[in-house]
Amino acid sequence: MQKYFEIEPHLIGFDFDCVVADTMEAFIRLAAEDYGFIVRPEEITCYQVENCLNLPHHIIQEIFMRLLNHPVENNLKPMPHAISVLAEVAKNTHVNLITARPNSEPVQKWLANHLPSDLMYNFRLITTGQHDGKSYYIKQLGLQFFVDDRLETCFELADAGLHPVVFSHPWNYNQHPFFRAETWLDIREILYLS
Ligand SMILES: [Mg+2]
Repeated sequence: MQKYFEIEPHLIGFDFDCVVADTMEAFIRLAAEDYGFIVRPEEITCYQVENCLNLPHHIIQEIFMRLLNHPVENNLKPMPHAISVLAEVAKNTHVNLITARPNSEPVQKWLANHLPSDLMYNFRLITTGQHDGKSYYIKQLGLQFFVDDRLETCFELADAGLHPVVFSHPWNYNQHPFFRAETWLDIREILYLS
């Protein structure tokens, strides 16, 4: 079994929201600028934000729909260092992105907006349309490691014999036995990049 260092980049995959893209920064910014609700990052202590924020559900829904359908127009930003690390990986092998989002087109557009065009062909994107069941796609791609921010997903992957990496956020600080990455520099550290 491979350990959490010198992971061959062709064996790892990445979630999109809150791993590659800073979805919560965008959520907090839109909530404040367009709806007048101030949310502090540390208040988002659960993955289903409607369970921990005192915001009307329809507004939460609307903000997430905007980010799902129009991430570029709503200025969804990359997580710090995500693009440079992914670009480094994409020079040598596929970058595997698996997201629970239902539509690939907005993510493709977002990627094209942030990546050099000659690297885009090396990005593989799978949209599953549901939060559970990522392990099936991860295995189909022949991956062994996966970076995600949703703890339920990480437990599902571990049950399927895969190796999750938890991307740290206030909603996944609870105790878990998995390897934790605080930033993309931590992810870069565990990758074998020649
Ligand atoms: Mg996510």
